[in-house]
Amino acid sequence: MAMELTYRGHDAQPLDDAGKYIHKPEKRLVCLSRSLRYFLHEQRPLFVLLGMTLASLLFSFFPRPSPVAGGGFRMEITDPKGWRLTEPHHLTSYGGQNYHRFVIDTAGRGSVGGKVPLGLKRKGLRIVVTGGAGFVGSHLGDSVIVVDNFFTGRKENVMHHFGNPNFELIRHDVVEPILLEVDQIYHLACPASPVHYKFNPVKTIKTNVVGTLNMLGLAKRVGARFLLTSTSEVYGDPLQHPQVETYWGNVNPIGNQSSSVSNKETMINVSSTGVRSCYDEGKRTAETLTMDYHRGAQVEVRIARIFNTYGPRMCIDDGRVVSNFVAQALRKEPLTVYGDGKQTRSFQYVSDLVEGLMRLMEGEHIGPFNLGNPGEFTMLELANVVQETIDPNAKIEFRPNTEDDPHKRKPDITRAKELLGWEPKISLRQGLPLMVSDFQKRIFDDQSDATTASGTGTGNGSG
Ligand code: NAD
Ligand code: UDP
Ligand code: UDP
Repeated sequence: MAMELTYRGHDAQPLDDAGKYIHKPEKRLVCLSRSLRYFLHEQRPLFVLLGMTLASLLFSFFPRPSPVAGGGFRMEITDPKGWRLTEPHHLTSYGGQNYHRFVIDTAGRGSVGGKVPLGLKRKGLRIVVTGGAGFVGSHLGDSVIVVDNFFTGRKENVMHHFGNPNFELIRHDVVEPILLEVDQIYHLACPASPVHYKFNPVKTIKTNVVGTLNMLGLAKRVGARFLLTSTSEVYGDPLQHPQVETYWGNVNPIGNQSSSVSNKETMINVSSTGVRSCYDEGKRTAETLTMDYHRGAQVEVRIARIFNTYGPRMCIDDGRVVSNFVAQALRKEPLTVYGDGKQTRSFQYVSDLVEGLMRLMEGEHIGPFNLGNPGEFTMLELANVVQETIDPNAKIEFRPNTEDDPHKRKPDITRAKELLGWEPKISLRQGLPLMVSDFQKRIFDDQSDATTASGTGTGNGSG
């Protein structure tokens, strides 16, 4: 072993009769002069020069496709690209605080093709999606770093990206600081359904305020572009219809007046119903923070105000109207219409939203932009579309509505049309079947898994 490690690579020197070393003629020099003579003969340098010129002409007329394009996003069918984490995270200190630091490199970037809207191609971007394991975030592609605490998101939503070396998943709560080196931040982390955001209202506010502050601090430190997914809820129960971005909204910051009565019965009642303001005001503050970091710290920001969105990978039991109706119809349960069912919403298919978000991030305009489908439906009309799509015999059952339910909602998308060149393409009747097949698979696969498990359980028990 030691012999191998100390070998220096030179031969034993020959000795003359007197035992002195003879200097052999320098082999290398002889070879060199022979090769040089060969090279200079028969106008060979001229041919070499000619070859080089031809090659450079060829490359300038037919350049190789850019190695990374598309801003790191794809809708399910592009090649991998982007970056990967080269080492596990470790704690580091910045501004007197401990951070989780993730080291990212760009070595994993490959070539790209696929369905990226024209004009959105950017080179070599490192993109983080907070809340990327949730419904919307899981549609933002496989060349991203997802940061999620899995409150409403699920690993299953992004598991299909796990084989891709350009995809990273970090379990992290945005309420805690984090160090990343990235170019763009899609900030989605926040529960979106009333059932979930009312579950722990204080945590919802913290996520929106402290979480957004941290992501803006990160954007400021690394000079990343920051996109906030705000909501149509910032308009509250709107007094203007349809809602234009210039409308300041009608939000009740404290919920129903009865909630201020400090009587035990009312308190129980209020806490079980919950109010929307933790979400509405949280998102409004997030918008304020975003604009203040833009004005005060020159962070490049974008604001999207998202209207009701549906599609595959929506949480089945999140209590939202589309997921409720679809799951109920599939399970042969009555569709639960709250109130008189005359309140309206506008429903956007998720791929339309994703395209809007990408255009916003890649474009030059800050916003806010309404991103939603202007097709307006009452809840009874929605129930009818679900009946048409899944089961014409599905029954409708009326239930009391929640106290703070906005009466109508419909986006004015003129600004997005003009400045982003964006408008939704998929109608409710086209989009709903796409969601139904996903729900069908998840509901019935889960049921058959449960049956198998309980079957096994009984077997084990009796054995
Ligand atoms: P979702 O609940 O499916 O996804 C939110 C994700 O954020 C989840 O993966 C959740 O685990 C994660 N998250 C929540 N709190 C977190 C925290 N403190 N730290 C890290 N991760 C956290 O919701 P969605 O429908 O995908 O919505 C995404 C974003 O879009 C949200 O910001 C929401 O407010 C906004 N939005 C959605 C809709 C809609 O109709 N889906 C409408 C308006 C606005
Ligand atoms: N922050 C973060 N990651 C970063 C930079 C900042 O999480 O890379 C957090 C930081 O901990 C702070 C917040 O973002 O809580 C706001 O940061 P900023 O630098 O704007 O404010 P400051 O730290 O000066 O209060
Ligand atoms: N809704 C309903 N039945 C349900 C769930 C909701 O009629 O099973 C109504 C709800 O009262 C509201 C509308 O549907 O008027 C949209 O509710 P969702 O929670 O989906 O979204 P958001 O209120 O946040 O727009």
